[in-house]
Amino acid sequence: MNIEPNDKGHMLPLMSLREVVMFPKSITPLFVGREASIRAIERASSDFDKQIMLVPQRDSNVERPGFGDLFEIGTVCRILQLLRLPDGTIKVLFEGLYRATWLRPEGSSKVLEDGGDFSQVRVTPIPEMVTAAPEGEALMRTAMESLRDYAKNNKKISPDILQALGAVATPGHLADAVMGHLKLDYRKKQEVFATLDPVERLTKVYELLQAEIDIASMERRIKGRVKSQMERNQREYYLNEQIKAIHKEMGREDDPTQEVAELEKRFAEKDMPEEAREKGLREVKKLRQMPPSSAEYTVVHNYVDWILDLPWNSLKETTIDIGAAREILDADHFGLEKPKERILEYLAVQKLVNKLKGPILCLVGPPGVGKTSLVKSVARATGREYVRLSLGGVRDEAEIRGHRRTYVGALPGKIIQSLKRVKFNNPLFCLDEIDKMSMDFRGDPSAALLEVLDPEQNCAFNDHYLDLDYDLSQIFFITTANSLHAIPLPLQDRMEIIRLPGYLETEKRHIARNFLIPKQIEMHGLTPEQMQVSENAVVEIIHSYTREAGVRSLEREIATVCRKVAMRVVDEKEKFETAHISRSSLPGLLGVKKYRHGEKEHDSQIGVCTGLAYTEVGGELLVVETALMPGKGNVNTTGKLGDVMKESAQAALSYVRSRSDAFGLRRDFYKTIDIHVHVPEGATPKDGPSAGVTLVTSLVSALLGIPVRSDVAMTGEITLRGRVLPIGGLREKLLAAHRGMIHTVIIPKDNERDLKEVPAEILKSLVIKPVENADEVLEIALTASVGDIFPGRATAAPVYQSLRGHDDAHEPPLTAQ
Ligand code: ADP
Repeated sequence: MNIEPNDKGHMLPLMSLREVVMFPKSITPLFVGREASIRAIERASSDFDKQIMLVPQRDSNVERPGFGDLFEIGTVCRILQLLRLPDGTIKVLFEGLYRATWLRPEGSSKVLEDGGDFSQVRVTPIPEMVTAAPEGEALMRTAMESLRDYAKNNKKISPDILQALGAVATPGHLADAVMGHLKLDYRKKQEVFATLDPVERLTKVYELLQAEIDIASMERRIKGRVKSQMERNQREYYLNEQIKAIHKEMGREDDPTQEVAELEKRFAEKDMPEEAREKGLREVKKLRQMPPSSAEYTVVHNYVDWILDLPWNSLKETTIDIGAAREILDADHFGLEKPKERILEYLAVQKLVNKLKGPILCLVGPPGVGKTSLVKSVARATGREYVRLSLGGVRDEAEIRGHRRTYVGALPGKIIQSLKRVKFNNPLFCLDEIDKMSMDFRGDPSAALLEVLDPEQNCAFNDHYLDLDYDLSQIFFITTANSLHAIPLPLQDRMEIIRLPGYLETEKRHIARNFLIPKQIEMHGLTPEQMQVSENAVVEIIHSYTREAGVRSLEREIATVCRKVAMRVVDEKEKFETAHISRSSLPGLLGVKKYRHGEKEHDSQIGVCTGLAYTEVGGELLVVETALMPGKGNVNTTGKLGDVMKESAQAALSYVRSRSDAFGLRRDFYKTIDIHVHVPEGATPKDGPSAGVTLVTSLVSALLGIPVRSDVAMTGEITLRGRVLPIGGLREKLLAAHRGMIHTVIIPKDNERDLKEVPAEILKSLVIKPVENADEVLEIALTASVGDIFPGRATAAPVYQSLRGHDDAHEPPLTAQ
């Protein structure tokens, strides 16, 4: 029988393969149990020169396949070895020879097992296609490369095998040989087997190899991770057990389970909302499962501590007795009638409605006028705990609302922190310096504060750290600020503003005598007999050592005096009797005078004009200087002026230009000069429109060469047509004028009605001139009337003369053109 392959094919016994694919060029052992298969092998061994056709089954579940259940392509194999096993099955070692197609012999039935006999089929070999050499070669090299990688983690592929595979000459054979060594799903194997184009076949093999390599490395990583996690857990467990053993040995009993039980007990006993209790207990449960030495344990423990330490339902007994409250407020503070009255009204309403849903009070005024100490007195008067939170410099929302717990080292916001300290949830909360908050990329603290201060929302304030609703509605909030303009409008909206404008000299004297001096004497461990301060000394301290709207520096200076006296008491011991503090003894105690009181700051000068400003520290005198120099019409402003003030300077110039005829100036006077406006004390920022009249006066004075009266101060915004518009803070400005020994104050006519707010003592000491336009201002403030000026006037320096319109033919301008 001719069994060599030829084109027409030849007959061979057929055996179907289940879940196995036999590749040419590979040697594979198989266990054969099916009867038909065993018979086919026996016939092949005896009659077909040990050659047999092995064909994979399409569906491995079919137990007795028909011809239709088989692939069209199979492998002609040689039986190398045959071993009968005791259970009747046989183990056969096959060598794959070549791919072949097969044909059922005519007349044979559709069933493979033909009447219990083996099946024979006509086999036609499929010749290997030839491929272009370079492409095949390159592919073979890459495939071998992958195989080597694969072999690194696969012990079944020994270096010998690799070497043998390296010697295979064509891509198709290499693909087949490699597949014989790979452990893969039989479906993938079938797919490769059925690919006849050798390059395509090897490409598929290469892809499979790559995928296997990736999977293997991922497996390795996962295994490594699991292993190290297990090792760490074991280590921690082991160490913890050791710690426990050591503690036991040393007789210490701080067993962590006991600690957790303690926490649970505290939760059971503490009065708190159910939501907080549930959340807390959930966290405690987590603690039970954690090793106490771990960082996470500490984090969770801290959180639980916060919940337990906060006052949730602990209200301090408060009383509202208006009479008693008035007594306390009066005992602590002199004057301040209006603020006190407003606070008492507020308390009265609270008493009637029996809850707090009113507006938040905001005390606004310069430093040292007693805002904070007034709030403290309110706490005393209402029997509430006092908490103060300074908002100065707070620029991060998280400072108010806390950090989320996911951050390392997270803490609750300052509101919650303060409440933990006071231990009651109905304290009086003083939010100090609410105007000093700022905003940056970390969020806007004022937005968080809005929520805190909103009576509709603050019964469920959500701190990021706690992540629980906390009821702030029992808290009595009072805020303080130096000025209103830096407070965001929505926040202002929530608050009722109470102004504390600053003290008059008589009030300061009274405060010093009755409050500050006794207080400081006591604080320094002295007795009233040991230190007596004369009235003149008090006045001198106020005049020559302080210049402020409030009484903070005054208190500081008095403290300095007390310190010096205390020093003497200690030094002189029994010899010391009484220190009499008089006006003349002050330089010895406080040093040279800091301010010259009652002396004019300067003589009447050209271009120097005194304005009145309203700053955070109360009213202030503000000197504006204008200098002219040859130039090209530039306007320079220095002294840290804000945008509004710079624009006022431009507007002042425009006004003067529009009135150049009336002032007798050439229309293009500004073209030959540069104007420099400076406001001394350059380090303090200044802004606001109310310096308009001051700028115009200073400019006209400089241009016309007429000095400005140094005992005149002024305030008022100005329009381009010279109308004087009203300003704010009149009371404070007049106080400042009074302090600065000003004689005449020019104010906008529209502000006349505000004069009734100004103490009579001030009005008596000043000449107030309400005006409607700039001409009136100039008339009052300049030492000579504008109309009196004529060209060539002796007082006018050459530069002014050159600016006059009428006689420039005689006197050429100074500037080089
Ligand atoms: P502010 O908060 O307005 O900056 P403080 O409340 O700190 O000012 O007040 C400064 C000091 O001046 C405090 O010691 C305060 O007792 C005292 N003081 C202010 N005003 C009065 C007043 N009207 N009567 C008595 N003492 C006052």
